[in-house]
Amino acid sequence: MVLSELRQQPHLSASSIGEYVECSLLYKFGRIDKLPMEHKAEALEFGTCIHRVLEQYYSARMIGEKMLLKYVHEIFDTTWTGIAKDNDDIKYNGDNDFKILLMYGKDLLTAWYNKLPDDGFTILAIEEAFSINLPGIPIPIIGAMDLVEEDSAGTLIITDFKTSGRAYSKDEVDQNQQLTMYQIAAKLNGYGDREILLRFDTLIKTKTPKFEQYWTVRSELDERRLIKKATQVWDGISKGVFIPNDTSWKCKGCAYKQACDEYLESIGEEYDQASNQ
Ligand code: SF4
Repeated sequence: MVLSELRQQPHLSASSIGEYVECSLLYKFGRIDKLPMEHKAEALEFGTCIHRVLEQYYSARMIGEKMLLKYVHEIFDTTWTGIAKDNDDIKYNGDNDFKILLMYGKDLLTAWYNKLPDDGFTILAIEEAFSINLPGIPIPIIGAMDLVEEDSAGTLIITDFKTSGRAYSKDEVDQNQQLTMYQIAAKLNGYGDREILLRFDTLIKTKTPKFEQYWTVRSELDERRLIKKATQVWDGISKGVFIPNDTSWKCKGCAYKQACDEYLESIGEEYDQASNQ
């Protein structure tokens, strides 16, 4: 099954677990109430576009073709135009707009293309969807690994494509729970006997665009910690615990800010009466 089909069923994912922990009201608005987003964040739309381009690049690599940079640019041009041209729902940062990001995206992809090592790994899968069951959680955990490769020694290399406004720290990479979940899923889906390496391929949107590969590994303890956290998240969701974290870094770009303000500011008549006495 592809990820969009898996998403039709009740599920958790690495990102929804992270979202619940960061702001469980945000989780509720988006994933339970399914409120329409008040805007679409530029970073999300641009990231989706870059992701689609990389997916097509690796699809060609999988059949032995190395796509020329000019075709990478053409795919980006078509995809970004389809997503963003005349789309007033996108909230741009600062002076950015459709055209500026159309040019910038090509520079960013050039930086990626020129620095991407020719590692000779065998591509096993692209956008590999998974659905796993974890103890204590009655709904599946789903996700999709952007790129799964193996080296000549049989080591599995699982990569997630990222676009980011800044470089990542070692701690961020080593503690990222999305990568931990990918390792858990790979082990539960038949790769338990393999060495597993995890990687972020990160296109960094600094003034001069950059590309970095960040490598990391996970221990069994890391897996256990995430599984424990996921069970606690499920416990909170199933009991209807949704707490706004209105000092979160997510508030600034939150797509449910208005709904959140209305929610927080309507605590009922009881308080109004008590405070006016
Ligand atoms: S504005 Fe902040 S507190 Fe409110 S839902 Fe969004 S992230 Fe949560």
